[in-house]
Formats: sequence, structure tokens, C-alpha cells
Amino acid sequence: MKVFEEKKGNIFKLLSEAISEGIIIVNIKQEIVASNEAANEMFGYAEGELIGKPLELLIPKQYRKNHDGHFNGFLKKSNTRQMGHGRDLYGLTKDGVQIPVEAGLNPFEIYGSQYIMALVSDISVRKEMEQELRQWSNIFNESLNEIFIFDSETLRFTNVNKGAQINIGYSLEELKNFTPVDIKPDFDETSFRELLIPLLDKTIEKLDFETFHQRKDGSLYPVEVHLQSSMIGDKQMFVAIILDISERFEYTQKLENTVKERTRQLSEALVKERELNDLKTKFLSLVSHEFKTPLSGIFSSINLLERYTESEQQDKRNKHIKTIRSKVKYLDNILTDFLSVERLESGNQAYKFSNFPISKVINEVVYDANMLLKDGQKINYPNNIDEIYIDFDENILQLIMVNLVNNAIKYSPEYSTVDIDFTFENNQLTIEIKDEGIGIPDSEKKYMFNRYFRAENALLIQGTGIGLNIVKSHLENLGGTITFESEENVGSVFSIKVPLNSNNS
Ligand code: ADP
Repeated sequence: MKVFEEKKGNIFKLLSEAISEGIIIVNIKQEIVASNEAANEMFGYAEGELIGKPLELLIPKQYRKNHDGHFNGFLKKSNTRQMGHGRDLYGLTKDGVQIPVEAGLNPFEIYGSQYIMALVSDISVRKEMEQELRQWSNIFNESLNEIFIFDSETLRFTNVNKGAQINIGYSLEELKNFTPVDIKPDFDETSFRELLIPLLDKTIEKLDFETFHQRKDGSLYPVEVHLQSSMIGDKQMFVAIILDISERFEYTQKLENTVKERTRQLSEALVKERELNDLKTKFLSLVSHEFKTPLSGIFSSINLLERYTESEQQDKRNKHIKTIRSKVKYLDNILTDFLSVERLESGNQAYKFSNFPISKVINEVVYDANMLLKDGQKINYPNNIDEIYIDFDENILQLIMVNLVNNAIKYSPEYSTVDIDFTFENNQLTIEIKDEGIGIPDSEKKYMFNRYFRAENALLIQGTGIGLNIVKSHLENLGGTITFESEENVGSVFSIKVPLNSNNS
């Protein structure tokens, strides 16, 4: 060592002080024989303080044991090499602080003695940067958001994080052959490049938009794209952060549907409201027209009744009483129909099912209809139906029958016949009401169930155009149907079908 000390001279000093790496020279006993200023500074020692000290002094305790082995092994091979392949190396400062280092070992022989020169660099800063880089890389890869990086010229993806690879179903290798246009079905290259222009000419810093991505399996998912340009090295790249907004999209979609549905319900309610208002207006004008004629008939019959005071004038009195009764019945029927419309429109129609003999309804309908019969008119109806019971809403069946039978009478001439027939088939009751009346013109048949509709040939006969409309509504509500066949000036047949277990419908 003495020899070395003496011979090193100024050249070593000059050279070693000019080098920014720490230089530590040890002899084979691992004693430090020289250290430059950078090494002293790195380990916190004054000039010359390390000389003669064991190398161990600069090695953290936990590494000392292994170090011996490495050192001896190295001496045997005696070639220049980098220390700590694949391992992190640490040095120990005088203050006891461990610092990450990198060391290259150079054996040499001088004046018959063997020495090793260690070139040591403090890599704390580099380690910190590596650590930081690792953290960023983890954030990049582990982010649940999807991150795509693509070249601003070729548009090809250069890097895509794990989250994105998993959701889109392509590997990074596959994606490297793709551009964003390949996974965005709403764009073609021209439209996508156009989108990038403001980012490229820096008119804007960031571009946010919503579109769809297409997975490898073909499925689409809605995404929110946040795109910005970034210099990576000397290349201009685009970084796209993608949020899969399927849930939000579904939620918005649901919300939109709900709003649409509510708006529809609201406008429906408005239409109903308008119709109801319409109905009220029509009702008022109908009342004035439809009620006036029968009321004045009743009025004149009462006036005439007063005149027939003699007991032998009973026939005449009876005729007027019949007129009054039929007109009152007529008005009562109109009111029943109007009430029914109101209930159907306001949704307050509640059906009441009961088991009743069909003859009960028929007898009442025919009894009342008799008051309306014109001269020579008659009603035929089966009289063997006493045993037949049905489950239905009795009042509604009565309302249906009253309307159909009264129409048959009203739209038929004197001395004509109205036939009522029943058939039971397939758990279904069919009632047919047949008349020999004015019939319905072919061209108007399709409007027959429209509310207020009245055929051209019926306009001189009193009516409101409501009856068939409510009959159809009730039957539809109860699972039944109404149809008709008619020939002008020959007659009409109206058929209704009622399910016999209609209370289950
Ligand atoms: P209304 O009889 O009060 O006018 P309805 O709704 O009962 O109202 O009938 C609508 C229209 O259908 C009638 O105005 C008439 O033109 C036609 N109609 C209904 N029943 C018959 C029938 N038996 N014969 C001929 N036309 C009929």
C-alpha cells in the first residue's frame, strides 16, 4: 500500500478529481487505499478520512456478509464488470443513510500488487425517477378508465392500457394495427381527422365528446372521450381517456323513456280532457236539440189530456199517456247513454258481475221497447230461455240490449218485425237483433261505431250517435264483440258475442 501511496502522484489526483463518479480503490484485503472527492462527498467523508478504512464501512450491514463472497469470487475471475447484476446496490454514508448506488469494478495490478478500482455513482435521483415512472405506469395500466395513445400522423395506437384492452377485447398487439376509426363505428377517417384539427392547430387544448366503441365481439358500448394532444419524446401523440358510460347511458335512456312515457300520458290525458270538454259541449247542444222535441211532444200530450175529461174519452187519454211514456222512456235512455259515456271516459266505469237469468233482462228490454213500438210493429224473442243463467254485468247487458232493440224499432217502418235470437256455443253467448228497417248505406258502414256518427239515411229520425259507440266500448272492456250486417232498405242484423265466463276476463 505504501508503494502505491507513494507512486500514485499527481496524475491520479488530477484525473480522479475531474471525474464526476466516485472512485474508491481497495487492495485485496478490502482496505481503501484511495478515494476521490466525488466518493468522499457521496459517502460524507472528509478528504483522506477513508484511507486505510475497510471497504465494509461503505456497505450497509445487511449486505456485508454477501459482499465478502462476491468480492472473493470477483478476485478469482478478475475481470472488469458491473457490480450487482440484477440486484439493487446500496452504499452507507457516514451519517448512516443508505443510498442506492451503481458500481463498476476494475481490477488492476500495479507494482506487483493487486487492486480494485470501484467507480461508484449515486443513483438516488434516477431511482426516484424510476419509481415515479413505475407509479405512472401502474396508474396507466391499472386505471379502470380506458387510455388509448395514438400517433397524430398515422393515427395508429402506440399504447393502450389494460383496462381498455379488457373492455374492448383486443390485445395490445392487435390494437397496434388499429386506429381509433377502427373501433368507432360512427366515424370514418375523414370525419375523425377533421375532429382532430383544432387539437393539432392548438385552437383547443382538450376535446370531449360522446360516441360508441365496438368491441372485438361486435357489441357496442357508449363512451365519453376526453382527447388531448401530448408530446411524447419528439413525437406528437394523442392521449384519449375513455369512460364507459353504459350505466349512465342506460340511466339517461331510462330517464328519457320515462319522460317520453309521462309526456305521452300527459298528452293522452289532455286529449281525453279535451274530448270530455267536447263531449260536454256536444251534450249541451244535443240536450237542447234532442230533448226539445220529445219534451214538446210530452207537453202537447199533457195539454190534450186535459181536454179529454169525458169518461168515454179513455181511448184518447190512453193514446196520449202512451206517447208521454214512450217519450219519457226515450229521454231516460239518452240520459243513461250519456252517463255511460261519462263513466267510460273518466275511467270510473266499474263492472259488477252477477249470475242472473237472461230472461230477466230480455223481459225488461222487451217490456220497455213495447212502449216505443210503432203501429203494427212486433218483437219476436225466444220464450224457452228461463233456465239460462249467465255471469255478466246485468245493467250493461240491459244497456246493450236497450240500444240495439230500440234502434231496430226506431229505424224500421210500421208493421215490421224485430227478431231477437240467442245461441250458446263454445262458452259464448251470441245475441242477434234483426230488423226490416232502413239499413245502413255501404259507404257509411265503417263509421258506424264512431261516437256521434249518424248515417245519412237516419238524419230525419231522432238520435244522438252515441249508443253503438258505448255498446262497443263496454263489450270490448268485457271481452265481447259487436258486428253487423246490413242492406239499405232491406234491414240490419246486429250480433253481439259475450264470453260466458266474462267475469274472468
Ligand atoms: P242513434 O241511433 O242515437 O243515432 P246509435 O249510435 O245507436 O245512435 O246509431 C248510430 C247510427 O247507426 C244511427 O244514427 C244510424 O244511422 C245507424 N243505425 C244504428 N242502428 C241501426 C239500425 N238498426 N238500422 C239502420 N241504421 C242503424
